[in-house]
Order: sequence, then C-alpha cells, then structure tokens
Amino acid sequence: MKIPFYARHCTNLDEEELLSCLNGNLNTDGLFTKKVLSQLSSVYSDRGSRYMLTSSCSLALETALNMCNLSKEDQVLLPSYNFPSAANAVLKAGGIPVFCDIDPDTQNISLKDIASRITSKTRAIIPVHYAGISCHMDKLLKLASEAGLVVIEDAAQAINAFYKDAALGTLGEFGCVSFHYTKNISCGEGGLLLCRDRTDFEKARCYRVHGTNRDAFFNGECDRYTWVCHGSSTAVSELCAALLSAQLSSLSQITKTRRQRLKDYLNFLKPLEQNGYARLMAVPDYASPNGHIFYLRFASQTLRERIQSYLTGQGIDAKTHYVPLHISPMGKKFGYKQSDFPETMACYDTLLRLPIHTKLTREQVWEISEIILKGIRLYG
Ligand SMILES: *Cc1c(COP(=O)(O)O)cnc(C)c1O
Repeated sequence: MKIPFYARHCTNLDEEELLSCLNGNLNTDGLFTKKVLSQLSSVYSDRGSRYMLTSSCSLALETALNMCNLSKEDQVLLPSYNFPSAANAVLKAGGIPVFCDIDPDTQNISLKDIASRITSKTRAIIPVHYAGISCHMDKLLKLASEAGLVVIEDAAQAINAFYKDAALGTLGEFGCVSFHYTKNISCGEGGLLLCRDRTDFEKARCYRVHGTNRDAFFNGECDRYTWVCHGSSTAVSELCAALLSAQLSSLSQITKTRRQRLKDYLNFLKPLEQNGYARLMAVPDYASPNGHIFYLRFASQTLRERIQSYLTGQGIDAKTHYVPLHISPMGKKFGYKQSDFPETMACYDTLLRLPIHTKLTREQVWEISEIILKGIRLYG
C-alpha cells in the first residue's frame, strides 16, 4: 500500500476553465477573477463584496499589516507554532512579532498567554486557525477589544470552516485565506484578503495594484489612473483564477469528503486516547471543521518517531509540522528561551499529521489506523 500525504483534487472543470481562460488576454481582474469572487460570496456573504484575490495568503497578510500603520516598536502577537508568513508580514510593516504559546487541545494561540503578553505597545493579534479548527473567537475578540487591538485572522487553512455560524476569516478586521497547493482548495499559489471596514478595503485594493487607483479608473470614477499610496503587485493571475473557479465548483463536495475522513480517523483511533498513548485533535463544539489536517499528539517524542517510521515502512506518508518560530534560526534573534513556550515545544516533539485528502477512502483510513494500533502494540 502507498498512500501520499497530499493529493490534488482534480475536478472535471479544471481543463475546461483553463483552456477557456487561454482564449482571453489574461488581463488582471478579468472574467475568471470576477467569477471566483461571485462563487466565494456564498461563503463570505457577511463581508459584502469586501474581499479580493491575491497571489498568496502571505501577501494578503502583508497587505493587512500594511493597513495597520504600525510605528517602530509596535508589537503584534502571534503563535510561535506557526508558518513564518505572519511574522514576516509584521516585520515588513515595521513592527515586532511577539510570540505566544498554544492551547494543547487545538494547538491554537493560547488566550491566557495572549493576556499575559499585552503591553502598551501591542497593536494587533494574528490568530491561526490551525488545521481548519477555529480559535475561540468570542473570547479572543473580547480580549482584543478590551485592549484596543486589531485582529487579523490567519485563516490560511480554513476555507469553508466556521466558528459557530461565521466563516473563518470574517470575524476579525481582516481575514487571510490560502489557495496554496497544500490547501483544501488550490490553484497552485493563491490567496484571499477579507476586510471588515470599507476604507481598509479600498486602501487594500490600491495597495494590491501597485499603489494605484486602477479600480476607480475601471469603475469610471476618474479618467486615468495614477500612483496614490504605498503599493505592491499582489493580484492573482487570471490563469490561477480560472483553476480556482473550477475548484470552487466542488467546494462543498471537497469539504464534505475531508470532514468525513476526519471523523473516520477520530472513530478508528479512539482506543489510543483511552489508553493514554496519544491525544487526538480536538474539535470543540463551536468549531465546524473543513478536514484540512488530521493530527495526533503522542505521549512521547520517541513514540511519535517510532510510529512515523513504522508508517513510512508501510508506504504511508505521515508528517510532523512546524519548527516553532522562537527556536528557528530567524526567530532566535528575538531572544526567547526554548522553555518560554512549553506547550509549543511539547507539540513540536509529539505531533504527527496523517494523510487526508479527497482521494483517501474510508477503508484506507481504517488501514492506516490499524497500522498505528499495531505499531503501538509493538512499541507502545
Ligand atoms: C499555508 C499557510 C500560509 C501561507 O500561505 P501562502 O498562500 O502559501 O502564502 C500562512 N499561514 C499558515 C498558517 C499556512 O498554513
């Protein structure tokens, strides 16, 4: 048996949409970009039309941070157990990333740790909805509003995942989603920026097209377009938008299949938890997941390593995840001690992700689970 960790979901519209796109001029914000925005309106209706496609989630984060007008030494809180994108965006905007520990049930930013790290210099929080499982947003938003902080959701992994009834990415001032090849819906490289505020949205639109008022020009509001603010070139390519539009036509089916595989793992692997060999990922009542990642945390690093190599030996590709930012070569420059974030370190040592994608069958999830349970009998 050979089971890959990732497998691209192919839809029967992929080729058709791409070929039809090639008949046009590939002009930025053309027909396909418009089509994707309208497809996304079913998920993001409560953001009106205040969202835009970018060429990556990292650039969506960069744009959001740019809208925050940080001064030198302003601080932004984010989890150390994280991909580097949000920390890079803070640095680019002239701020200082301040790392926080995580919650051991969800691996999301710890609310307790956030509270202890807020200072007079703190301006924003960037929570990550790890694995497509929502942070506890009522509590997080309350903390943020009491301290006057902007919330930028890193919803990179969270397309079509919800907190109660709200789509992830629509709860903070800004939300950033990824369409990278590793994500549930993918066009190779792509992203989405959601804005709560109309003025932020309009500024972000200018930033996205070289700091110009190109949108106003195309809406007939001025007779030429020109340089109006800080900017970059962060719009998605029409070719990527064409593929994205094909992918989004299967959004509910993709989400449904992945959610089902997540449930299958939780059922089949339950004995591990009962016997204390591992903790399965938690799905709190308030979270409606999208099955982006399935992970478990073993009782020890040794057990994790033994099970991972046992799986590899059987052709099953299982993966660990982030090197915590505070112990990475770049993150070390901020002067943290390893022991500053005990849950982050424990997660780093013990977390293992198992394959989850739309080509994975329930029977395969059962087989993978059986191999793990057998591995535990050998090494546990
Ligand atoms: C994938 C990911 C990103 C980066 O997304 P890109 O679209 O590749 O820029 C950022 N943050 C998190 C949490 C991610 O999982």
